[in-house]
Amino acid sequence: MGRLAHTRIMDAPVRVLNSARFARRQRLLEKLGLATVRDVLGHYPFRYNDFSQVTEIRRARIGEKCSVFGTVLEVSFKQPRPRLKIVEVVLRDSTGMLYASWFNQPWLKTTFKVGTQAFLLGKVEHSYGFKRMASPLFTVLDQDEAGGLHEGGEPEGGQSGRILPVYHACAGLPTAQVARVVNEALEATEGLYDPLPAACRARLKLMPLGAALRHIHRPATMEQRREARRRLAFDEVFFLMLSLKLKRAAAQKGIAPYAHRADGPALARLGSLLPFDLTDDQRQTIATLLERMCEQRQMNQLLVGDVGSGKTVIAAHALAVAYDSGFQAAMMAPTEVLVQQYVLKVGPLLDALLVPWASLTSSTPASARRKAAGQLADGTLSVVFGTQALLEPDITFKQLSLVVIDEQHRFGVSQRDALRAKGAGCDLLMMTATPIPRSLAQVLYGDLQPTYLRTRHQSVTTVTKLLDRSQVGIAYDAVRKAAAQGNQAYVVCPLIAQPGLQDDGPEGAGDIEGSFDSDARLIDTFTDLAELEGDEGLRAVEREVGFLARRVFPDLRVGLMSSRLSAEDKRTAMDQFRAGELDVLVSTTVVEVGVDVPNATVMIVEDADRFGLSQLHQLRGRIGRGSAEGAMFLVTKTRDDEALRRLRLLEHVSDGFELAEHDLRLRHEGDVLGSRQHGVGSLRLIRVLDDADLVAAADLETEALLRDDPCLAASRHWHVAHELAMRVGRAPEDDTGGAFGHAGHVAGGA
Ligand code: ADP
Ligand code: MG
Repeated sequence: MGRLAHTRIMDAPVRVLNSARFARRQRLLEKLGLATVRDVLGHYPFRYNDFSQVTEIRRARIGEKCSVFGTVLEVSFKQPRPRLKIVEVVLRDSTGMLYASWFNQPWLKTTFKVGTQAFLLGKVEHSYGFKRMASPLFTVLDQDEAGGLHEGGEPEGGQSGRILPVYHACAGLPTAQVARVVNEALEATEGLYDPLPAACRARLKLMPLGAALRHIHRPATMEQRREARRRLAFDEVFFLMLSLKLKRAAAQKGIAPYAHRADGPALARLGSLLPFDLTDDQRQTIATLLERMCEQRQMNQLLVGDVGSGKTVIAAHALAVAYDSGFQAAMMAPTEVLVQQYVLKVGPLLDALLVPWASLTSSTPASARRKAAGQLADGTLSVVFGTQALLEPDITFKQLSLVVIDEQHRFGVSQRDALRAKGAGCDLLMMTATPIPRSLAQVLYGDLQPTYLRTRHQSVTTVTKLLDRSQVGIAYDAVRKAAAQGNQAYVVCPLIAQPGLQDDGPEGAGDIEGSFDSDARLIDTFTDLAELEGDEGLRAVEREVGFLARRVFPDLRVGLMSSRLSAEDKRTAMDQFRAGELDVLVSTTVVEVGVDVPNATVMIVEDADRFGLSQLHQLRGRIGRGSAEGAMFLVTKTRDDEALRRLRLLEHVSDGFELAEHDLRLRHEGDVLGSRQHGVGSLRLIRVLDDADLVAAADLETEALLRDDPCLAASRHWHVAHELAMRVGRAPEDDTGGAFGHAGHVAGGA
């Protein structure tokens, strides 16, 4: 086959591979998200079991971690208790026998077949007269292809130099079979053309694509794997940046950008109306912002500022400038609660400046809505605050010159673009408290330089404490004490309603809110854990509210807030809480975004391990906003060391940027930002913090390429263009979430 044919095979359906020719196998592969050969090759091992040092079973020392290799002699399955399932395997090599057992992973009984060869890696224990391993890592060699998992030329079934890939697998398709499909995909694409320009590859000393794919799946050494990862990680950033830059260039074509003027009366008076002095940080940010708004080009500004850093007042300045320039501005927030807050805080400022404004949400009465729509269309209204309701087609503007998107990580790209489309050429200000590190911003936003606000206005500190569920009384006491002093508390739970746990399978995990709903894997883990512990699962607001009201705080006023309430009820709950008519608000992460109730001083987060660090930090920003010190209690019942270490970071680290970096290191780009973000799902290998040099290089290389050939139309760039089309054309469409937070953590690409 010629090179082109090999390249084409990349995007052929998996059924062209021999081991995937049957529909059943195709369905299983589909479960793993593998529909094409390209998908298969991009299904990188999530771990490698390094069996390069295999110990004979006889020599395996009790108490030490080691790896053994042998033949499966026996497989048994036991269920001593309804929620305890044990798979036990007896492994034999030429020197002895070893027992291995796994708990509550019943599918393993079919993974290990008598007579197959397997590696085990774990701590050797000794009981009932035998050496044992509990839940060791393992690799089972494919029966038909004993050497199927490693490079040819190595000793068959030998015991040296083995780095075996471990793949995400599923029931019916164990890692060994995934490995076989991958091997076939590697064979089928051997000799494929490298789409990266050779000069670029040479400059960066990147290995060819074919070699990189081979080495990431079947490394001979970990060094080889590192080099392969570097190459493939570069591709991820290179093609994502390329697509975003091309898109941006296309969007700029033929539109007339607005040039605002920053010498008008509203802006001039705004400063004197503020109840506080702006910080230097804010002043500087405003100056940069206004400068960019006044340029005769479309502004794309990202403003990153920790919770409580005072972003709203910065937006207010931008609104005043749009008004002074004779145009209109729209400010969109993900929740009604936030819109309500603008109405309360920014509304009076605009009134004083004689700027006509309105707010629009899904609960705006039809008549008011019609009136606002008419006045936006004829230009009578200069500013509108709203939720996604602003995106409705009947809302049009006479001259929309500025779009502000608050808590922008809550929106999908398409939502942001939809609002922007209502004013061709308008400037865009995106605000977020999710501190996107500079290098990731560089990937996503390219030329747009983010501005960072670092000073916070929360003058008081918030003490954060990690509690085991058994110590939750400490947190309850703090709530009681706060209430006695006239302060208020939040109790945040990960779920809305209690799931009906079932014995088999992850179904019934309940209604999950916020960034959570996108991460099905977490839910699986939790059901497994719940089964193991016989626990009732995660805390859910609808149950928690009754429990707290009746059993814990019968003397306090306890209210409920969740996205399942009607808009009316949500507003009532927030109003009551703001007015001090509730002592305790039991809520989902709805309160994560921007809610400002200075009197709230205590927050309890149940099942804190279910949340990301940045998300917990955002939640923490909801308290300690007034004059009294805040206290945040992270309650968990996890025993997982890693999870506990992660949560403990919050006890020491109060800086949102630092936490975001930890979050990025501990989780992954795609998980932190949400895989629904156009293109971010393709970021699998890149670690923007550690790979800042790759990101910078990709920026330069894409820049150079587009300078040379702005539309990638030259025939010498056919392969780049083809690769780009294949990668981007298949990126998942970003999702427009529900009106209340269900958009998850969606970051934007400009
Ligand atoms: P966020 O950046 O989280 O959206 P907000 O804009 O809601 O923060 O501001 C948080 C609080 O800080 C508000 O109550 C706001 O009025 C107050 N604030 C903003 N700027 C200042 C300032 N320069 N001095 C004192 N308080 C300020
Ligand atoms: Mg805000």
